[in-house]
Amino acid sequence: MNRDHAVVAGAGVGGLLIAHVLADTFRRVTVVESDVLDGRSGHRRGVPQSEHAHVLLTRGADALEDLLPGLRSELVAAGAAVAPARMGPGRGTRVVGPAGPFTDVEAEGETFLGASRLLLERHIRSRVRSRPTVDFLDGHRVTGLLVAQAVSRVTGVSVRAADADGGAARSLYADLVVDATGRRSSMPRWLTEAGFPSAPETTIETGIGYASRWYRRPASPTASWDAMIINLRPGINNRFGVLLPVENGECAVSIGGGAGSYPPSDEEGFLRWARDLPDRQLRDAIVESEPLSGISAYRTPTSRRRHYEKLRAWPQGLLVAGDAVCAFNPIYGQGMSVSALEALALRDCLRRDPETLERDFRDLVADIVAGPWSLATAEDMKLASVGSRKRRSLPARLRDRFIYAGHDAATSDPVVARTFGDIMMMRAEPTALLRPHTLARILRHRLRSTRGPRNRTAEPPP
Ligand SMILES: Cc1cc2nc3c(=O)[nH]c(=O)nc-3n(C[C@H](O)[C@H](O)[C@H](O)COP(=O)(O)OP(=O)(O)OC[C@H]3O[C@@H](n4cnc5c(N)ncnc54)[C@H](O)[C@@H]3O)c2cc1C
Repeated sequence: MNRDHAVVAGAGVGGLLIAHVLADTFRRVTVVESDVLDGRSGHRRGVPQSEHAHVLLTRGADALEDLLPGLRSELVAAGAAVAPARMGPGRGTRVVGPAGPFTDVEAEGETFLGASRLLLERHIRSRVRSRPTVDFLDGHRVTGLLVAQAVSRVTGVSVRAADADGGAARSLYADLVVDATGRRSSMPRWLTEAGFPSAPETTIETGIGYASRWYRRPASPTASWDAMIINLRPGINNRFGVLLPVENGECAVSIGGGAGSYPPSDEEGFLRWARDLPDRQLRDAIVESEPLSGISAYRTPTSRRRHYEKLRAWPQGLLVAGDAVCAFNPIYGQGMSVSALEALALRDCLRRDPETLERDFRDLVADIVAGPWSLATAEDMKLASVGSRKRRSLPARLRDRFIYAGHDAATSDPVVARTFGDIMMMRAEPTALLRPHTLARILRHRLRSTRGPRNRTAEPPP
């Protein structure tokens, strides 16, 4: 493959990081973005999720720093919040699991970076813009692939102005095209139109809805935790809530629900929803904070993974990355971190045999996505089964019981709570719960709580 020109469709976090990596090896990189970017720093149509709380997981923060050294300091200089990474009911991050708030976990020297999605994207974009070989074609929509059928190669994309009349389509030729157009990616259609099979998909109906608002917390809030995450427990509590500190002393609050239990977006309903969460502290924090925005709503009814790695017939010169491959249930906050890991994987692939780039990247993306997908979908399956008369399989019910026992242990055992924290931050695989040391603690806790007066554990739903 020539490494003259690469086109990246989509200038979200995923597309920007991919463009940055490609600029190391391609002579020119063009990022095509349907939104107009110049001179605009606010929310934009193509990324409606920026109005909602975005947590940057530790693993993703490390990957971003690897890709863009110094980004973290830039964000801090721009006002991003730096909070100690410890967890606890009253300090650091208050994590409320299905069995109650996690116990205190120290995280010596570790910090958590709190930034809005807007700030993060703006800084990544300005770093990518500063690369002399990267051009932005904003206000333009990619509408399909250009393909040399005889050699099964993508040779570019067709683009159109994204404004109302759209204008005539024009061709943008490239040696490599990367689709990073996010969860609304049209790649299945583009592939079919170009004569290729579309990839098998896994979709799970999660019925997730968000309502979010930005606040300024008082200088001395009543509660002394910095961030809060209230998890849902499908079938028993279908609601969740998040409060994250972001830049300039502001915080982002997202409340929501799963299994089609969508939160209201009027002021009274928002507060009522927060009040009815299994932990009252989020609502108390909202009440004492000053609202800085209206309430924005967003629905994402399905989690969806496209298995591009399974296709045998795949054109040369084409890659797919980010949410276009896997649109996770966003409540686990995995998307940006997975995108950063994929960009690192691409950097690695570009150093290998150019002839196997497409195959290598598809395989690596599948590997990167597999862990976070299995973590998220274990819960998503439960959401999908809410209201269904069909009983979940025995292995699924046993797994649910074990995870619940783990959450219960995490309310008093710092080792178990730390393990959950590491899994949530993508620093450990979900199988870390099965490590002998952790497993023994979970089982011991379970035995104690079923035997003794400490039995406060309601059984998980059958
Ligand atoms: C409600 C919600 C909350 C989330 N919370 C978190 C979180 O806490 N933590 C986290 O890590 N992730 C979170 N995510 C996921 C995260 O936003 C994405 O995973 C991340 O932005 C990477 O996505 P992406 O770059 O692939 O796509 P996007 O960020 O969606 O970007 C796609 C880009 O492509 C452009 N585009 C679309 N179609 C075309 C086209 N045809 N031609 C040209 N341009 C096009 C769009 O305008 C956009 O700029 C959340 C997502 C949602 C929906």
